[in-house]
Amino acid sequence: MTNKDLADLIFPNITKTIEDYEKMYPKRNLPESAVVTRFAPSPTGFVHMGSLLASFIERKAAKDTNGVFYLRIEDTDQERKVENGIEGITTDLKNFGITIDEGALSETEEIGAYGPYIQSKRKEIYDAFIKYFLENGMAYPCFCSKEELDEIRNAQEKRKDRIGYYGRYAKCRKIPIEDAYNKIKNGEEFIIRLKSPGDFNKKIVVKDLVKGNISFPENDLDIVIMKKDGLPTYHFAHLVDDYLMRTTHVIRGDEWVSSLPTHVQLFNMLGVKPPKYAHISPIMKEENGVKRKLSKRKDPEAAMSYYHEKGIPTEAVQLYLMTLANTNFEQWMDANKDKTIDDFEFSFNKISKSGGLFDIEKLHNISKNYLSRIKATEFYDMLVNYSKEYDEEFYELITKYKDFTIGLLNIEREQKKPRKDYSCFSEVKELVWYMYDELFDKHEKNYEFTNITDKDEIIKLMNTYIEKYYDQKDEQQDWFEKIKDLSEEFGYAREVKEYKSNPDNYKGHVGDVSTVIRVALTTKSMTPNLYDIMKLFGKERIIKRIEQLEKNI
Ligand code: GLU
Repeated sequence: MTNKDLADLIFPNITKTIEDYEKMYPKRNLPESAVVTRFAPSPTGFVHMGSLLASFIERKAAKDTNGVFYLRIEDTDQERKVENGIEGITTDLKNFGITIDEGALSETEEIGAYGPYIQSKRKEIYDAFIKYFLENGMAYPCFCSKEELDEIRNAQEKRKDRIGYYGRYAKCRKIPIEDAYNKIKNGEEFIIRLKSPGDFNKKIVVKDLVKGNISFPENDLDIVIMKKDGLPTYHFAHLVDDYLMRTTHVIRGDEWVSSLPTHVQLFNMLGVKPPKYAHISPIMKEENGVKRKLSKRKDPEAAMSYYHEKGIPTEAVQLYLMTLANTNFEQWMDANKDKTIDDFEFSFNKISKSGGLFDIEKLHNISKNYLSRIKATEFYDMLVNYSKEYDEEFYELITKYKDFTIGLLNIEREQKKPRKDYSCFSEVKELVWYMYDELFDKHEKNYEFTNITDKDEIIKLMNTYIEKYYDQKDEQQDWFEKIKDLSEEFGYAREVKEYKSNPDNYKGHVGDVSTVIRVALTTKSMTPNLYDIMKLFGKERIIKRIEQLEKNI
């Protein structure tokens, strides 16, 4: 009786060989330097900041080298599956502009010639590889019950030995093929373990593209490669998939570093070159001077839904991710303001070894800068999309008053130092509500008058202004001259300088008067350019606002 007999007994219907699969999924026809990499989540339904960063790096590394980035769904652990788990992931990736070249699009659809990209649909392929391992004496069936495994563990604890199924503790390793054959024939339950050739007392050194050379004891654990349900374990699926999908780089969270000796060993046993590995440290957060991992449980900003709901634009999140991905990016960005992420060359050795520090303020600043530099029409389109999903009332208004809204967004934009009012779309309404009568009418009015507070004076100033000085057609300079004229008429200095040199001669200065106009029309003491606001308002609305002022102060 041979290993082959045993393998045939376990997998009677598996006729395809490894060579067949190698032909079906040939070496990719790509340049030598092309990075073929993947994002390989379990279908948990969402992507969090750490995995978004990993997938962002994967996407970027593949794009920079004309390689391939694909999405593989790792669902061999059927217990972790959640409903619509795949859709949740593909939606999050899409929302943050991370496009895939190949992989799962949904439970039933995929693109690419190296699939299936959902592990549970690859059972036949895994079986062929496990069969190959069995045939070549590199794996064996294990019949240990839970009780027997507990016994082994107890013995190890008592002797203060390493825990695990290895060496002299690997009971089923020693079962003669014939006995194993008969047990299986008699219907005994089993799993399949790797027959590890490793020696724990020997060292291997693995090169990690982020962490450098890491030295480990060789793996000598006879890890499970096929579970009772017939599906492979994660480690074995990783071997098969990353080999057949012709992955060149495995980029993933550093919780997987400790699996490296096992993974490299599996590739060696199969007789193929392992991919290059890059393990990314978790994103850190500083709280009260103490650094800790950004946590899915504790930090709302770890979930991607947070950014979507706030309306932080995709591009800003991407710029921020790039600062976390490569430590030299920020400097580059400062020196190359007119360039985009695509122009920046990503490098593995510029990934922070200790883990980037998450800084929401920085993200907001990046977002503010980004939003200040795009065209008003672009901003408008994104705002419409956002409001459609999150604020129906505002959506109705901005689509009803489209040109007006674009005009408003265009104030002090497209100039050398554009205004930086907004860091996300959810802030916009709060900042501009006074521009829309529908919102102004129902909003609580808290007029922020500063130096001039006398009600009669304010109302008189406003009425005189509209009756005597206001002219819709005025250019900004004439408009301001007229405010100066108004100031003079009421005993305020035409220039701030004049006032400062002779404060006793005046009630105040032109700045105080323009503030009155600003507050009277908007309730706010700080707004974008008043001239532009008034242009957008037009005379009728200005008069209406003065009437409302009279009623409300
Ligand atoms: N499925 C693994 C996870 O959920 C992927 C690890 C890997 O990228 O190799 O993290």
